Amino acid sequence: MSAPGTTVADRATAGFRQRYRTEPAGRWAAPGRVNLIGEHTDYNDGFVLPFALPLRTVVAAAPDPDGRWTVWSELDDEPVEFGAAEADEPGGVDGWAAYVAGVVWALRAAGHDVPGARLAVASDVPVGSGLSSSAAIESAVLAALVDLGGLDLPARAWPRLAQRAENDYVGAPTGIMDQSAVIRGREGHALFLDCRTEEVEQIPFDLDAAGLAVLVIDSRAPHRHADGEYAARRRSCEQGAAALGVAALRDVDVAELDAALARLDDDETRRRVRHVVTENQRVLDTVALLRAGRVRDTGPLLTASHASMRDDFEITVPEIDTAVEAALSAGAYGARMTGGGFGGCVLALVDADAADPVAAAVTEAYAKRGFTAPGTLTVRPAGGVTRLA
Ligand code: ADP
Ligand code: MG
Repeated sequence: MSAPGTTVADRATAGFRQRYRTEPAGRWAAPGRVNLIGEHTDYNDGFVLPFALPLRTVVAAAPDPDGRWTVWSELDDEPVEFGAAEADEPGGVDGWAAYVAGVVWALRAAGHDVPGARLAVASDVPVGSGLSSSAAIESAVLAALVDLGGLDLPARAWPRLAQRAENDYVGAPTGIMDQSAVIRGREGHALFLDCRTEEVEQIPFDLDAAGLAVLVIDSRAPHRHADGEYAARRRSCEQGAAALGVAALRDVDVAELDAALARLDDDETRRRVRHVVTENQRVLDTVALLRAGRVRDTGPLLTASHASMRDDFEITVPEIDTAVEAALSAGAYGARMTGGGFGGCVLALVDADAADPVAAAVTEAYAKRGFTAPGTLTVRPAGGVTRLA
């Protein structure tokens, strides 16, 4: 356990010293992320608008003279050690260290001469809550290995490589959003990502200047059938696109939505399509408002996104809906579930000085319903992966 006042970087360093009896060569930090708006749009070739969080995962690291990899995390007592043979075979390392071995694998698969390393990991990003502790650990490890080995890997190639580690080595089928936000996030900005072209644009999202805050509420809802439901939603979207004769739902213009829906013959597909098409438009509308400096006015779009996920895409759960309703009743400008659904987090846009009362109102609503108390956290857009001084 850490001493009070100790930072996550201090914990990574202390863990490194204790484990390896020597000094790290450096420390690399990568943030978690939250998606402001754009849910289930990524695999429909659409738009997302995540931002990096002030919570970070830090990796302290030094080269390993034997050309092997050893990684310790404060989440586990035992370090995990592996060599090239295990790294070159997906499945060769399993459990949490697969996220580290996956980065070694992806780099080697791309032809890089990855240096052996000793690593120690500490994190303030909650694990498994939907704030992307997975992309944070991948990206911090990637930055460490690139720097230690002097590898020639331009920053624009990093998100794809970290994604490959997670998809192909760990075996988790995730899109490019998490790694893009964690690697390319910028303080005071959200990252507008076109999932078809992978083009990104930094969009001003200066909460402090607007006197606002984003409250993130960890619903603590048990994840229910999320994998099967996710696959079913993807299938519906593919069927909808096929029935409409488009490559992806991204290609359905919101102005032609009614006509498109009339061509679909089952109500469920119709509602799934309506969510994706309107959600893409809400991302574009949010970007337009933020470009105009109208941060507060994005609130109704966030709330509309939630209603669409609840009623059309049917991916919310009672804890999540309770948190959104309580936040809105307590004065939030907008609130929505963020992430894939069936649990995870809610975010609410609030006046900076209302963050605590809104959090208290959500906690109270939870208690009334007999739910496990939620976690609450006030965040602002922070910078992406970096080497610490
Ligand atoms: P999320 O990314 O939403 O936090 P995931 O299930 O995608 O949830 O990733 C969580 C997994 O990533 C953990 O179960 C663990 O295997 C790995 N992980 C993340 N952070 C750490 C860490 N600091 N130390 C060890 N493993 C970690
Ligand atoms: Mg993840």
